[in-house]
Amino acid sequence: MSTGPNLPALRDVVASHGLGADKRFGQHFLFDLNLTTKIARLCGDMSGADIIEIGPGPGGLTRALLAEGARRLVAIEKDPRFITALDHLREAYRERFTAIEADALSADEAELARAAGSAGPFIIASNLPYNVGTPLVLKWLQAEPVWWRRAVLMFQKEVAERIVAEPGSSAYGRLAVMAQSRAACRLAFTLPARAFTPPPKVDSAVVVLEPLPEDARFKDVHALEIVTASAFGQRRKTLRRSLAQAASQTASTADALLHAAGLDPGARAETISIKGFQALASAWRTARS
Ligand code: SAM
Repeated sequence: MSTGPNLPALRDVVASHGLGADKRFGQHFLFDLNLTTKIARLCGDMSGADIIEIGPGPGGLTRALLAEGARRLVAIEKDPRFITALDHLREAYRERFTAIEADALSADEAELARAAGSAGPFIIASNLPYNVGTPLVLKWLQAEPVWWRRAVLMFQKEVAERIVAEPGSSAYGRLAVMAQSRAACRLAFTLPARAFTPPPKVDSAVVVLEPLPEDARFKDVHALEIVTASAFGQRRKTLRRSLAQAASQTASTADALLHAAGLDPGARAETISIKGFQALASAWRTARS
């Protein structure tokens, strides 16, 4: 595998541009090419897709994605210092690489990539800033129509575990229900905190998401949010009690909603399957309209 033509060492890029990690932007860098290559390979065949990378920082993962064959890569970075620091990748990869200064939380990434000449379909790749990892993945999961075909995302380990959690586990909650109602989710591997510079306080894990087919994707994400917020907001209580808040927004009662969804009012939220929550969301929607 080649790392590309004449690229300066990553640590030199950081040193020569005075790129001290800025905590406000959740900056923890990966310098180990073996690790970044392992993450890049989770994108699968990159010949038929364009990559959107969120938060390239000094470009460790970016290099690996380009070296592993990214047809085109559009990087979206909030910290303007890195846009100039990534000039060496622009010189080496020319039209295959574009860096755009934007906040991924508010940006329309696909639109930015299209304006930069990418046609899609898109694969999202990111070593996500911890402070915005959850809102960003929720934004991508809830997007309809779905504009990405795979997402390879590094989270703090605890968040990764909450995304892939199964009913009955302590990590199972709103995030698992939302994520698995919209995408197939798997935890690929974990990384110790020491793999990053500077090391964060917690370990990390990479999650691979693939949107579920159109007919399997649960569409009413708003209703799903309402019922999961209510049910998991008081997870020790029975659903009959914890769902009172969601039911109060309808002409129905918690018991009637649960009955309509075929769920036991005496059960607790963490025992209810993904499909069970979807049935509850549909019952809430019917009772509200
Ligand atoms: N990809 C690099 C790596 O693996 O070494 C850096 C990863 S670092 C954990 C997160 C990166 O996301 C930083 O470069 C940070 O400036 C950037 N970032 C933070 N918040 C962002 C936002 N809202 N939109 C876009 N980029 C953001």
